[in-house]
Amino acid sequence: MAAKKKPRVFDVTIIGAGPTGLFGAFYAGMREMSCKVIDALPEPGGQITALYPEKYIYDTPGFPAIVGKDLVANLVQQATQWEDNELCLGQRAERLLQEPLPDGEPGETCWVVETDKDRHYTRTVIIAAGIGAFSPVRLPNEQVNQYEGKGVIYGMVRPSEYAGKRVLVVGGGDSAVDWALAMEPIAERVTLIHRRDGFRAHEASVKALMESNVDVRLFYELREVQGKDWVERAVIFDNRTDEEDVLEVDAVILALGFKADLGPIREWGLETIGRRYIKVNSRMETNLPGVYAAGDVALQEDLDPLNLIVVGYGQVTIAVNYAYTYVHPGAKVFPGHSSEKMAGKEKEMAA
Ligand code: FAD
Repeated sequence: MAAKKKPRVFDVTIIGAGPTGLFGAFYAGMREMSCKVIDALPEPGGQITALYPEKYIYDTPGFPAIVGKDLVANLVQQATQWEDNELCLGQRAERLLQEPLPDGEPGETCWVVETDKDRHYTRTVIIAAGIGAFSPVRLPNEQVNQYEGKGVIYGMVRPSEYAGKRVLVVGGGDSAVDWALAMEPIAERVTLIHRRDGFRAHEASVKALMESNVDVRLFYELREVQGKDWVERAVIFDNRTDEEDVLEVDAVILALGFKADLGPIREWGLETIGRRYIKVNSRMETNLPGVYAAGDVALQEDLDPLNLIVVGYGQVTIAVNYAYTYVHPGAKVFPGHSSEKMAGKEKEMAA
């Protein structure tokens, strides 16, 4: 019988590949800690990728304005420059267990993050779970849902994949409007239907939508999709008159929003503030030893929430540096300056 492979124990495992988790992964690498980042979504970037990838962000230091997806691409490049960093996407962290450290001294323990797909061994954990794991809001229409993966799409899309296609977008939030606008210049035709005349999307985006060539149909809903092996037609109806229209389409994008839920994290024995926040101290430590939290999910009792990207960067920097001292007792918290520690890396970064 083949010997069971000994699990690799990472120095730090970050739950959440939003901006906080990605920046934390960079920082852990700079401190020469092996680091794994786990996210339930298939793409990194957290709320930025799921909710506003095409929007400009104006309050990220060093970038007077940067499109969300570009900021995420930069963060991913920065986070994954280290050989010892691993990004595990499409895995939802469900349990956090303390177990004996493989090959450790008697009594030595480590943390195990159990996901729906794997077990991840780690000395420390940083929870950067934002507002929780996202799942797309689904249309309560089984006839339509049968075509999922056959032209009907829930969740995140890459607008560039719809070049030359006839696309129907369903929804009135930021994702629906942003994706319709991003596809309009490249797709053969984009139709957006929304069940009422008020959009949840940002005012400026709605204005741009109304001025674009997107065929916007208000008070319209999706009734049915038709096609043999792939969606070919969408039957839509005016919910005021029940009058139907049939559109020839190659893709139906259901952008009805995302539900976020801290879900299993609430069962891990962490002290919380309300239902949404994990309680941390000024070192970003939770009540569990070696477990830290940062970003939108973390809150100090004496502060009000400031759920901003830049706050997450600061908090995760603190968390990583204290996690370092947990892994290396007696080591300095201060990491040194990147300008000195990373001197010589500029050629590699430019390549
Ligand atoms: P998130 O971005 O929420 O990322 C958390 C990640 O953790 C997610 O990817 C999630 O899938 C993952 N996760 C959660 N639970 C689990 C689990 N159990 N297992 C695996 N993965 C899990 N902020 C600004 O500073 N400037 C802005 O201009 C700005 N504009 C915004 C516009 C909109 C429309 C919205 C909604 C927010 C905006 N924000 C802005 C807020 C900003 O996006 C958040 O503060 C930021 O994304 C928080 O980052 P985070 O990494 O802490 O969490």
